[in-house]
Amino acid sequence: MRKNIVAGNWKMNKTFSEGSELVKEIINLLNNNDKIKLKDQLHIIIAPPFILLQKSAELVKDNKQVSIAAQNCYTEEKGAYTGEISIAMIKSTGADYVIIGHSERRAYFKETNDMLAKKVDVALKNQLLPIFCCGESLEIRQAKNHFEWIKKQIHESLFHLNENDFKKLIIAYEPIWAIGTGITATSQQAQEIHAYIRSLIKEKYGDDIAENTTILYGGSCNPGNAKELFANPDVDGGLIGGASLKANDFIQIINTYL
Ligand code: PEP
Repeated sequence: MRKNIVAGNWKMNKTFSEGSELVKEIINLLNNNDKIKLKDQLHIIIAPPFILLQKSAELVKDNKQVSIAAQNCYTEEKGAYTGEISIAMIKSTGADYVIIGHSERRAYFKETNDMLAKKVDVALKNQLLPIFCCGESLEIRQAKNHFEWIKKQIHESLFHLNENDFKKLIIAYEPIWAIGTGITATSQQAQEIHAYIRSLIKEKYGDDIAENTTILYGGSCNPGNAKELFANPDVDGGLIGGASLKANDFIQIINTYL
């Protein structure tokens, strides 16, 4: 059975002390919630900025339901790339996951599908699990090109992988028009794209892998709409931006699985 995952992407928010406090708050709330602990299939991921990876990994290490993710990594493994962070560096902090291809990276840092394929490869080679983001802009959706767009993103960045590596991925569908805008995809829109992504995986890797791939929804997900979104058969949880910055909101979203 595939996992349900609620992942928090903090983006460029929280200083070292603010972030440490937020992880502590989240962990305390989780540790005091026996119902969440009983949900074997439920996993929680926190993706703080790089400077907080090691501290966060230390703070969550006794709770097996919680893992830490980096928000990005570089395509190369080491060398003269001033300011970049390698996968081995991320791995050395105790993080287990890395977000690859967030739409903000694609838009502001011009990350292409090819570049993201390299990041996926370098992550998997170093045993870090990618959370791969895809999704269309409003213009693409209005032109009714969103299916083709998502297919291209997935084909060009992921479908070179062998079965064994593909199985390690988490995919996040994040319509750009819904990220940080307060506009959420409707439950039907989310389900439609998630089912489509799963059908692409099925075509390429077969039923078993498709059924076991976790596909998250991201885009203005909050305590008020999470339950309806997560109730869809092909929506396996969420990648949460703004609402993951408040411990109570994040826990309320997690609680929708109880
Ligand atoms: C995100 O950054 O991945 C995201 C979904 O942000 P928000 O929840 O704020 O829309």
